[in-house]
Amino acid sequence: MPSSPVESPASIADRLAVVQARIRVAAEACGRDPASVTLTVVSKTQNREAIDAALAAGASVFGENRVQEAQTRWTEERARPVDVELRLIGALQSNKAADAVALFDVIETLDRDSLARTLAAAIQKAGRAPRLLVQVNTGEEPQKAGIIPRDLDAFLNSVRDDYGLIVEGLMAIPPVDEAAGLHFALLAKLAERHGLKVLSMGMSGDFETAIRFGATHVRVGSAIFGERKSPEAPSRV
Ligand SMILES: *Cc1c(COP(=O)(O)O)cnc(C)c1O
Repeated sequence: MPSSPVESPASIADRLAVVQARIRVAAEACGRDPASVTLTVVSKTQNREAIDAALAAGASVFGENRVQEAQTRWTEERARPVDVELRLIGALQSNKAADAVALFDVIETLDRDSLARTLAAAIQKAGRAPRLLVQVNTGEEPQKAGIIPRDLDAFLNSVRDDYGLIVEGLMAIPPVDEAAGLHFALLAKLAERHGLKVLSMGMSGDFETAIRFGATHVRVGSAIFGERKSPEAPSRV
């Protein structure tokens, strides 16, 4: 017998459908095309049955926090379906950059100069280039990764001119104790100012607000899979 998941496959399919419906409603409520919002299913810490249930229910875009966990899950435990897009949404250590370039379609957490340099070298070597988002620390929280807004201009220029990397958008995780809408509005404004099309913002608790402020990608985990024991809890496979 497989270990019993927190949520049954049927309930994961139901929850996924509810989230998709809420995305549709939120987009239509502000006059946006629902197809302009992509649901990234955050599969970090989930076991194999839970992810298989999401796949069976039609999920095709997944967000992972850790390179190694994602490698195990998407190449060792199962062949990765060709139509699955993998997005790295957690901090990337430079010594994992080559692995991340090999595995992910999108890296959302470009957050420092040294990582830009390392990624550029890894991309050159691999002959494969994941799309890139810059993580912005909109709340200027000292413990949080990301470029602070006033440094974004210089960082984007350097990433392009010094390392030849193309950035397609911005990502942010607002402070937990502040109104997320202010941070979403700031991120949207920064993206617009720099002509960037992709905006990854909004999680289970606030994705509808994020859609109102222009999110093109919302990252949803617990609303689909149920509460995680802890963000760092290992996969229970
Ligand atoms: C875990 C995580 C999410 C999903 O959070 P939920 O509240 O479970 O939807 C989204 N983005 C990032 C960067 C995360 O680490």
